[in-house]
Amino acid sequence: MKTIGIIGGMSWESTATYYRIINRVVYERLGGLNSARVLLYSFNFDQISQLQKAGKWEEAGEELAYAGRSLEEAGADFLVIATNTMHKVAETVENKVKIPLLHIADPTAEAVRTKGIVKVGLIGTAFTMEDDFYKKRLCQNCELEVVIPEEKERQLVHNVIFDQLCQGLVLEQSRRQYQKIIEDLAGQGATGVILGCTEISMLIGPDHTGVPLFDTTEIHARRAAELALQD
Ligand code: GLU
Repeated sequence: MKTIGIIGGMSWESTATYYRIINRVVYERLGGLNSARVLLYSFNFDQISQLQKAGKWEEAGEELAYAGRSLEEAGADFLVIATNTMHKVAETVENKVKIPLLHIADPTAEAVRTKGIVKVGLIGTAFTMEDDFYKKRLCQNCELEVVIPEEKERQLVHNVIFDQLCQGLVLEQSRRQYQKIIEDLAGQGATGVILGCTEISMLIGPDHTGVPLFDTTEIHARRAAELALQD
């Protein structure tokens, strides 16, 4: 079994979910007392969040690259960055390590394509929804149209992530607001919505909406475990 290097702690709430999913998949495949080989570099998210707010992406990239190198030196066979947003600096990390990085948007785009979807909604942090790095990667090898909420709704989605979910707060009122935003995206023709932030599944799941959801945490963590189990 390969050793997975997780660059996490962004937030620790979702990194805990990654850890649970990865181990669950290994158990499903191998049973018994089998569990995943995992190395974790967990950031103090406040530090990374300050860099995001200040637009200091280069500095943030160097921090994540340092984490990646540490995991490589400790014996990781490949890396995952356990947040959608920080894939903004994925290239910086990739350039500083020799081991591969499993990009979160790749298995996500594959899952969307497999369902035959051509227009998909995307919710996540403002960085993920508004900047190019994520949408571009999703649409790299296909003709996927990505729709995002209006500005006021984007702000709401963003604030709920940082002020609530990343701090372990799951509020019914926010769930209703997210439900409406997801349904509005469907109203614009999206036949599925990407939960493009690794904490959103704490709030919204298939029980809360009829719109097909693509949970990037589940997709990414599951793919990491499958990769680890490949010879
Ligand atoms: N975990 C979140 C994401 O998937 C947000 C936290 C961050 O900014 O990294 O984008």
